[in-house]
Amino acid sequence: MRSRHYLLATLKETPADAEVISHQLMLRAGLIRKVAAGLYTWTPTGIRVLRKVEAVVREEMVRAGALEVLMPMVQPADLWQESGRWEDYGPELLRLHDRNQRDFVLGPTHEEVIAELARKEISSYKQLPLNLFQIQTKFRDEIRPRFGVMRAREFLMKDAYSFHLDAECLQQTYDTMYAAYCRIFERLGLDYRPVIADTGSIGGSVSHEFHVLADSGEDDIAFSDSSDYAANVELAVALAPTTERPAPTQAATSITATSLESACEQVGLSLQQAVRTYLVKAAEDQAQPWIAVVVRGDHQLNEIKLGKLPTVASPVEFATAAQIKELCGCDAEAVGPYQLQFPVIVDYSAAVLADFVAAANANGAFMTCLNWERDITIAAQADIRNVVAGDPSPCGKGQLEIKRGIEVGHIFQLGTKYSDAMKVGVLTESGKHENLTMGCYGIGVSRIVAAAIEQNHDQYGIKWPTALAPFEAIIIPMNMHKSVRVQATAEQLYAELCELGVDVLFDDRKERPGAMFADAELIGVPHQIIIGERNLDSDSVEYKNRRTGEKELVKITDLAQFIQ
Ligand code: ATP
Ligand code: MG
Ligand code: MG
Ligand code: MG
Repeated sequence: MRSRHYLLATLKETPADAEVISHQLMLRAGLIRKVAAGLYTWTPTGIRVLRKVEAVVREEMVRAGALEVLMPMVQPADLWQESGRWEDYGPELLRLHDRNQRDFVLGPTHEEVIAELARKEISSYKQLPLNLFQIQTKFRDEIRPRFGVMRAREFLMKDAYSFHLDAECLQQTYDTMYAAYCRIFERLGLDYRPVIADTGSIGGSVSHEFHVLADSGEDDIAFSDSSDYAANVELAVALAPTTERPAPTQAATSITATSLESACEQVGLSLQQAVRTYLVKAAEDQAQPWIAVVVRGDHQLNEIKLGKLPTVASPVEFATAAQIKELCGCDAEAVGPYQLQFPVIVDYSAAVLADFVAAANANGAFMTCLNWERDITIAAQADIRNVVAGDPSPCGKGQLEIKRGIEVGHIFQLGTKYSDAMKVGVLTESGKHENLTMGCYGIGVSRIVAAAIEQNHDQYGIKWPTALAPFEAIIIPMNMHKSVRVQATAEQLYAELCELGVDVLFDDRKERPGAMFADAELIGVPHQIIIGERNLDSDSVEYKNRRTGEKELVKITDLAQFIQ
């Protein structure tokens, strides 16, 4: 590939709205562009990386005996009504209807569609076990799309579904898939951990998540400090021998309460605890927390003493500008009667805010967070960490410590949940009709690209593990347009490497060498070949390894072999 005929799309500045490093670098290296919240276009460089992940995943699925299929993204509602998830799934499920007013959903996952295929195509036990997979776009209307493709609304997933007559056979396929997942993450060069997981809304009994360890991860993983036990934190709480929280796993599911107070009740937190934990979590995430004060009963805003709040950040949104000015001493914008909202300065201590909340409550107002359904869920999850950390480990060895992870894969033993609901069965050897036992296995193909960058970068850009790099090598000719020798060598090496099947980018732009080096570092091409007049005197070029930073002179005649 020649740069002049390529859409490099690199950026010098760090985009302001990208919080985590992978999101920043994916924009700067020109891998993705945002179309709308949680919706991205993959550029030519981005798609190269995505396809590499996809290829590794596909190869390992085929090796594990799974067969590739492709199901529609738009799914008829009646299948979802049959499984019961039309009612159960919640607002992440995007519903739509066609010109004939028939209901559809955009598939967030494909259990229903695969069950429909299986019940039509599998009629005898002789066809079992069967494991089918696809690599396909999913849509989930995430409440908080963020971190670029890490938590997108439209994203690429590999999902596989297996069908069995009994639990033993399911266990065998589950073990094979577990091993395939380990191979995939090893081949992709990721530092990952499989952890025991709860089964959430998908249902079923046994389940493991695969996490890439990174501080920017949204999930908490509980590790035993003296064994290899690891569990996702919701499960660790459920198993913890002593916990003060009622039904802690509720925190992981979405809240259905109609008031803030009942939301807190649902997750087993007091209002103060919830607000305090929310603020601590927001500070940790370096997110901007919001506080709203809503007036209860007959009180008027100007009757309420808000307690002592240090400087409030502007802009302040408030019932009336005059009132907020009076109460908090800063400018405000009206957002409706009896309500004021303002962003809280992140470095307030939790204690100051907790006092503020208490004072506001005692004076007839109650404190809430903006988007309380979302924020209380976050608070409850954060609070869970306090419940778990330092509890004895459920494995009986050592204490639990908490680390952050990015969930890149999730496998489940579903049992007969879907096959019972949707009547997926076969005739057994003895002629009896039996519903099938199912497993399902997901990998976040597009999320892996971001997770890999979280683990592989430096101040200059991405340091791709070789298996993921958009190009294996880059040729950087210095001042090619002034030197016939440099140009001839660059053309010669480019032709040689192409011939050998090396995926090489030839930077033939009329750019300053500095700009070319910066782009090569940013995009993270593992092998860099720098061609300059001076080294040509000794028939050599400079080779730089992006991951190690090591440079050496290599004879032109040896280069192709050196790179391979
Ligand atoms: P999360 O806990 O991060 O919301 P999930 O548990 O809802 O993920 P699964 O239903 O287990 O996700 O889906 C399988 C895989 O799909 C996940 O392990 C993850 O890698 C990926 N995935 C899920 N949601 C998203 C998303 N919004 N954006 C990108 N990848 C996602
Ligand atoms: Mg989810
Ligand atoms: Mg999850
Ligand atoms: Mg999951």
